[in-house]
Amino acid sequence: MHHDVIVLGAGLAGLAAARDLAAAGTDVLVLEARDRVGGRVEQTRTPDGRTVQLGGEVVGLAHTAYLRLAEELDLELVPSYVAEPGRITRSTPEGLSPGDPPHWFGPGDSAQHERLGREFGELAATVNPDDPWSHPDATALDRLSVADWLRSRHASAAVVRLWDIGQLALAGGSYERVSLLAALRKSAAVPGMGDYDYDDWEGVRLAAGSATLAEVMGRELGPRIRLGSPVAALDVRPGHCTVRLGTGEGLTTGAVVCALPVGPLRSVAVTGVSDARLASLHRQRQAVAAKFAAVYDRPFWRAAGLSGLSEAEGVLGSTWPQHEGVLSALVPPERYGVLLGTPPHRRTPELLAEVAGMFGDEALRPSSCHLRMWGTDPWTQGYVTQWPPGEVMGVGPLHGTHEPPFYVCGSDQWVAGYMEGAVRTGRAAAEEALRRG
Ligand SMILES: Cc1cc2nc3c(=O)[nH]c(=O)nc-3n(C[C@H](O)[C@H](O)[C@H](O)COP(=O)(O)OP(=O)(O)OC[C@H]3O[C@@H](n4cnc5c(N)ncnc54)[C@H](O)[C@@H]3O)c2cc1C
Repeated sequence: MHHDVIVLGAGLAGLAAARDLAAAGTDVLVLEARDRVGGRVEQTRTPDGRTVQLGGEVVGLAHTAYLRLAEELDLELVPSYVAEPGRITRSTPEGLSPGDPPHWFGPGDSAQHERLGREFGELAATVNPDDPWSHPDATALDRLSVADWLRSRHASAAVVRLWDIGQLALAGGSYERVSLLAALRKSAAVPGMGDYDYDDWEGVRLAAGSATLAEVMGRELGPRIRLGSPVAALDVRPGHCTVRLGTGEGLTTGAVVCALPVGPLRSVAVTGVSDARLASLHRQRQAVAAKFAAVYDRPFWRAAGLSGLSEAEGVLGSTWPQHEGVLSALVPPERYGVLLGTPPHRRTPELLAEVAGMFGDEALRPSSCHLRMWGTDPWTQGYVTQWPPGEVMGVGPLHGTHEPPFYVCGSDQWVAGYMEGAVRTGRAAAEEALRRG
């Protein structure tokens, strides 16, 4: 079968690209390995009708491409956990503290933390998120980790620890191993206060659950999507590309929109694309993470004046309330190996014990629990993009660009992953393919 365009992957990026291509009258086919659409957005329902998010969940007020698409699809947005009353909890092996400052802070640490937030913001303002490579100090900024930069700015160990526990909570990899240039680029893409403003990045969510966005686009595209169709090989020629499935079946197309995560893409045999582009794509990496969700009858943490939001140094790096009585949690890359090494039947009890350590014994009695090991999911092999020192320059300016008739999109092709990155790059890839005819 021949199609004008074949889109690889039915995550938010592939679906958003295919939707725009179809709307422009293109004969488009989407090939998806799984038996469902959505990729890293996935949700289930409790018997009492609450939605439980197992993957991507919240977006920010600055995520304009995602918000615009949600509006086009007539999907309602509501405030996220950010609007939850109560104080944040910070949990480390030696203690627990509600609110600010954290229990390990001493005199002067709060003022120093604020100063460094301002300095980081000022430095971020010098980075063009679309072209960080053009920064006069790009190589030096990329070589430095965020933690090393903090220490070079005379941060105390206590302040470095606060920045790092926040990063552990986001599960993007410790600041000891994140490129300063990558962190500045991410911050510059969504300018705000400090290194990560929660309203800008995480302030809202879809009322019906984030996977609804994918489900609605999936329904619109209907028979244009082939599920259970892993792509094994790809040959790109001007005007005539061949896509081979794992079954051996071959399909031909005028152009390919590749919306695969960078991990699974490395297993697809690609010919006809420049060595430099393949080297850049194959070099990109993801932070591996797991998501845990525990469903309770009620948000019992509120009674203690807590919001359910936590930053932790356990196997769990964070918790937050995703829905009334439903607690989300992330296991960051640094702890993913510990979770994998835990016998499967011990994982949930041990994670619940960590939650109970922060919020009390009621945490031990959920009505259901869900653990999704995204880092070892064969069709994801990660969670969000990870940029260790040296990697922005290593991947280089080909990041997020196209080589017609080979178009690239996916959250990995934006500054830092996220659903915004998927929608933004998916729609941009479709626009570029349409522009080139
Ligand atoms: C636990 C977790 C929590 C997250 N939380 C948030 C959040 O709160 N906010 C936020 O903005 N982002 C969040 N993210 C990130 C966000 O969900 C992703 O960045 C985004 O959904 C990725 O979309 P994508 O289309 O680029 O990739 P994917 O969703 O990964 O889609 C790629 C598709 O390609 C398919 N595929 C893979 N290999 C093949 C193959 N060989 N052949 C055919 N198909 C293939 C996959 O099955 C998948 O469907 C989270 C992610 C995870 C895992």
